[in-house]
Amino acid sequence: MTQPREHAVVIGGSLMGLLSARILADHFSRVTLIERDCFAEALESRPGLGQARHLHVLWSRGLEIAEQLFPGLEDELRAADVPEVRVPADMLWLTSAGWRRRFASTRLLTFSRDLLDWTVRVRLAKIQNLRVLAGHEVTGLLADAGAVTGVEVRERGTTGSGEPLTADLVVDATGRSSKTPAWLERLGYPAVRQTLIDPLLGYASRTYAIPSGFDPGWKALYLQADPPHGTRTGALFPQEGGRWIVSLFGVGEDYPPNDGDGFLEFAKSLRSPVLYEAIRDAEPLTSIVSYRRTANLRRHYERMPAWPRRFLVAGDALCAFNPLYGQGMTVAAKSALTLDACLRADGDLDRLARRFHRKVIKNATGPWLVATGEDLRYDTTRGAAAGVRTRILNRYVDRVQSLANVDPRVCDRFIDVLALTAPPQSLFLPEVLWRAATARPRPPTGPDDLVP
Ligand SMILES: Cc1cc2nc3c(=O)[nH]c(=O)nc-3n(C[C@H](O)[C@H](O)[C@H](O)COP(=O)(O)OP(=O)(O)OC[C@H]3O[C@@H](n4cnc5c(N)ncnc54)[C@H](O)[C@@H]3O)c2cc1C
Repeated sequence: MTQPREHAVVIGGSLMGLLSARILADHFSRVTLIERDCFAEALESRPGLGQARHLHVLWSRGLEIAEQLFPGLEDELRAADVPEVRVPADMLWLTSAGWRRRFASTRLLTFSRDLLDWTVRVRLAKIQNLRVLAGHEVTGLLADAGAVTGVEVRERGTTGSGEPLTADLVVDATGRSSKTPAWLERLGYPAVRQTLIDPLLGYASRTYAIPSGFDPGWKALYLQADPPHGTRTGALFPQEGGRWIVSLFGVGEDYPPNDGDGFLEFAKSLRSPVLYEAIRDAEPLTSIVSYRRTANLRRHYERMPAWPRRFLVAGDALCAFNPLYGQGMTVAAKSALTLDACLRADGDLDRLARRFHRKVIKNATGPWLVATGEDLRYDTTRGAAAGVRTRILNRYVDRVQSLANVDPRVCDRFIDVLALTAPPQSLFLPEVLWRAATARPRPPTGPDDLVP
């Protein structure tokens, strides 16, 4: 059945909301994107995107999808002086199994998160049937006869329940603090079940000017913790504007400090001094910012006994991952394509939610296993404990990880999983299994021994 597709509303103007709005503009006569922050005229950070002040890696699949939705986007990012990092050829990467040889496996454009969202928003502004209602927040859902029929929206800073705005479809893309569970309960739906696996991980981040003439033969550093006892990770990546973003991470409440001396001490305590030595005398460009809302959180909407028609939840609002593994934006990009495919496959908006949620959760299963599997290596992780299956899988992943450090084929396969171009099961393909069973890798001895 084909129904009118007059007006769609997207709540939340971060990546999931922006990409959903882009897709819906192809399927509806009008789209309204509602974001509670005001969008500045120039590129600058905003409170609702606090994560932008920390390292953000968009894997190649995510960038490919963004390019598909906004042709020319990659060129625009490059024109903004965004560096390219070959992974791991341009990096010093200390994995839990030792140093990784510097094969050329994949490429990353290492832009800041603010630049990515800004570039996408500029492109969205050119879409004629898309209206952006910034500085407004949604306070609830309108519903009638088992379907969502719109939202209540008010200007930010005002009180009251807000004005009704009717729509044929509503998408919640408001991130992990989404109010959908409360909104649904208000409409009489049962409580939403959720799974929370919390590694108690904290970030602290700061940007630095890249010292002039700095050329040590690498562009980026990634010094991983070695679980279950080592809790500290550090990363340094170049960004547009000749700067480094440095993020320090600690698991199990081993939070990195946000004062200058404490930050440097934490960097010095990583498994290699190379990051500390790089930033020790570098010029900081910002203060140090912290972030601690990093739990893996899945809301099981696909299992609800009843669900209001014409209402979707997407992005972090549906399934958020520990961000250390850099998966959320690529999962959001894939979900945008899923939305497009579902809308093309079936004209019936009443059937859309079940189909969409099921497919998105299926796509999120691999990233969820990667993130929670790693987090469950720590006894301090809350919400679940590693069962026998996870422990056996992690032993195998350790083996693959140490092989990936010295074998370019296995390195490619391993990065494909991290980059979401292949599911975790691909690590069990005969090619990898055979190598894992037979190889006797000679681990590199240190950063000077990394060139293949
Ligand atoms: C510290 C950190 C580092 C990360 N690093 C990476 C990384 O390296 N790689 C990666 O792929 N992902 C990373 N992520 C995840 C990534 O940021 C998210 O997956 C991505 O932003 C998609 O999220 P989202 O759009 O669903 O929600 P969010 O980004 O959380 O955005 C939600 C938006 O909704 C708005 N909003 C909320 N409530 C309302 C309301 N009632 N009305 C109107 N608007 C509202 C908010 O202001 C916000 O703009 C990181 C996340 C964090 C926290």
